[in-house]
Amino acid sequence: MEIIRSVDQMRRRSAELREAGSVVALVPTMGALHEGHLSLVRLAAELADAVVVSVFVNPTQFGPSEDFERYPRDLDEDARLAAEAGAEFVFAPDVSEVYPAGFETVVHVQKLTRKMCGAFRPGHFAGVTTVVAKLFNVVRPNVAVFGQKDGQQSAVIERMSADLDMGVEIVRGPTVREPDGLAMSSRNAYLSPEERMDALVLHEALEYAERLYRCGETDAALLTDGMRTLIESAKTANIQYVVAVDAKTLEEVTELRAGVMFALAVVVGKTRLIDNVVLGGTERGRETRESRDDG
Ligand code: AMP
Repeated sequence: MEIIRSVDQMRRRSAELREAGSVVALVPTMGALHEGHLSLVRLAAELADAVVVSVFVNPTQFGPSEDFERYPRDLDEDARLAAEAGAEFVFAPDVSEVYPAGFETVVHVQKLTRKMCGAFRPGHFAGVTTVVAKLFNVVRPNVAVFGQKDGQQSAVIERMSADLDMGVEIVRGPTVREPDGLAMSSRNAYLSPEERMDALVLHEALEYAERLYRCGETDAALLTDGMRTLIESAKTANIQYVVAVDAKTLEEVTELRAGVMFALAVVVGKTRLIDNVVLGGTERGRETRESRDDG
């Protein structure tokens, strides 16, 4: 495992890999790696000869009142976990390395970023697409793996990569959950015990919708209304959005079918959580759930 801190060094390493004919996969993260991230690293290792995990808490994707400063950081532990999951390189540049003085370019996907999380986090996706475009340019991977957990982000990155002819295959890995159903997230650590209990309504609402769809219900509004009622029953939970959209185009749907994504954002206490489920299963198979036996 090699930890790379500079853009030049990462460029050199990736050029060597390409010259050697290696297929290179990139897994972009903000660190604080958990089983969700590591499942993506394992998937990347299946798809490529060499896996680069980037660890970069990207300031431009955080709003002024968000948690950039207190976001958990532990590079040595991240490198250890990434290596164990099959990564050869961790690319962990400093902020000044990614955004040197004079930096002024923004990559912006227009329509897909207006709705859902984009409506509540102005500028967030421009921060994401700009940094991911830079990571693609530095690492020049053949494939990049993102989590279905951030369903809108995956759709936005797919659009960007296609629109800008980046030649990077974008793969979505399934959402990994805690044994009780809560989607794994670095931000779960912010939850108090009461909020942690309330946070279960996110997954319960998604399961409710998926169950009724499987029983033949196709009225999207009926189910998003039911989901809202369920989520509102949790005292510390405040809904930002609950939608049924096409998982790729993010267009709202009225009638349910395979490929529709129920997606939601809920603030539990002060912690903003997102989750989603794609009807008919995600592209790379069903969601995985950590078994208690695995710890
Ligand atoms: P982050 O470090 O939160 O920016 O996430 C880095 C990558 O890991 C993104 O592609 C996320 O979608 C993905 N990810 C985060 N949580 C999970 C999860 N519970 N299951 C699968 N992928 C995840």
